[in-house]
Amino acid sequence: LSDRLTSVFSSLRSKGRLSDADIDATTREIRIALLEADVALPVVKAFVARVKERARGAEVSQALNPAQQVVKIVNDELIEILGGETRRLRYAKTPPTVIMLAGLQGSGKTTLAGKLATWLREQGHVPLLVAADLQRPNAVQQLQVMGERAKVAVYAPEPGNGVGDPVDVARRSVDEARRQQHDIVIIDTAGRLGIDQEMMRQAADIRDAVTPDEILFVVDAMIGQDAVTTAQAFMDGVGFDGVVLTKLDGDARGGAALSVRHITGRPIMFASTGEKIEDFDAFHPDRMASRILDMGDILTLIEQAQKTFDEEQAAKMASKLTAGENFTLEDFLEQMMMVQKMGPIKNLLGMMPGMGQMRDQINSIDDRDLDRIAAIIRSMTPAERQDPKIINGSRRARIANGSGTTVSAVSNLVTRFFEAQKMMKRMAGGMGIPGMPGGKG
Ligand code: GDP
Ligand code: MG
Repeated sequence: LSDRLTSVFSSLRSKGRLSDADIDATTREIRIALLEADVALPVVKAFVARVKERARGAEVSQALNPAQQVVKIVNDELIEILGGETRRLRYAKTPPTVIMLAGLQGSGKTTLAGKLATWLREQGHVPLLVAADLQRPNAVQQLQVMGERAKVAVYAPEPGNGVGDPVDVARRSVDEARRQQHDIVIIDTAGRLGIDQEMMRQAADIRDAVTPDEILFVVDAMIGQDAVTTAQAFMDGVGFDGVVLTKLDGDARGGAALSVRHITGRPIMFASTGEKIEDFDAFHPDRMASRILDMGDILTLIEQAQKTFDEEQAAKMASKLTAGENFTLEDFLEQMMMVQKMGPIKNLLGMMPGMGQMRDQINSIDDRDLDRIAAIIRSMTPAERQDPKIINGSRRARIANGSGTTVSAVSNLVTRFFEAQKMMKRMAGGMGIPGMPGGKG
């Protein structure tokens, strides 16, 4: 995937402006690349459609060249589909918190049970591992080995009693946890090589017996296209709250992550990255996105370009202020649009003396507000823009009409502008602006 995308983007990099043809050519390549990475077809379609829409709708960035802009859009969309921020485990109000693991045989449930137990123990919890996989002869023993490595207790059916009932074991384990002061119960369940009704029913029975606080669907990242059918079957058969991706240490290309997330809408919460007990971490959508893209260096470049541009803009604004130039409505609009586009400048504004108020004003403006403000200012005559004091009642009505807003919206804007202008004058007459880039500090 990465090789493909890299070649797509390098062919784009030389062009000045992004046309529809560019976007189409690029998204065609991205589509092929994602399919090659084993992302399921419906997911690929949805993803490509979103990227296209955003690439078309996006203003041509001043900070980035078109190729960088497309990379950024692809990356942003990947992060968004993969789930934005990482979700944390939900703990029960009254312990124990019951966590149930479900997934195909070999997906890594038992290994995960040990990893999760270690991770939780290190955070001060006292987990209990529960062997509710009584299908395979060695399953209980395997969990007991995990428990030793994780240094946590394991609850298992008494040996010699014949095969126990996993639902019963799960139910009794919760009582045991209460008695022994365990605040977390991790239930390891049986899987089959393929999706199978009996296994699903058993998992659903365990779920009904213990009403888990979290059901985690454990899925092998190497599963590829099958991820969709498997995830869907577990979603229908048992239901789950979160996903754990395992075997990310392999050469899995991330397709499963994208598919499962898209199909089930459930967050990917953890990543398993090896056979050792410490090979485990919270899932990071941004890292997964750059793994799928494998363009870390280009992403860094984009970040730098954006940052440099922001700093130049901030410096320009600062020098205009300190030079005491007349602050017009057009400056007001330009400044608001700039600040809106560039998050970091908001922070710079906060650092400038006297600008706190301005920042609050700017922060309270949303996109639609900004469109309205732009419409109002554009409906003014040049004379009105230069000297808003001349805007009387009839002019206000005309402007409101022309901009499709109301008279009070126009008055409001003019008042806000006068406040900003006053603030600018005060600043220009007064001190310098420390903390600004560009040597003004
Ligand atoms: P279960 O059947 O779902 O309980 O899966 P197991 O926990 O028994 O894991 C099946 C195999 O995959 C074992 O050999 C594990 O050592 C291995 N395994 C589990 N998680 C990972 C992982 O993150 N990376 C690698 N490389 N192997 C893993
Ligand atoms: Mg197992």
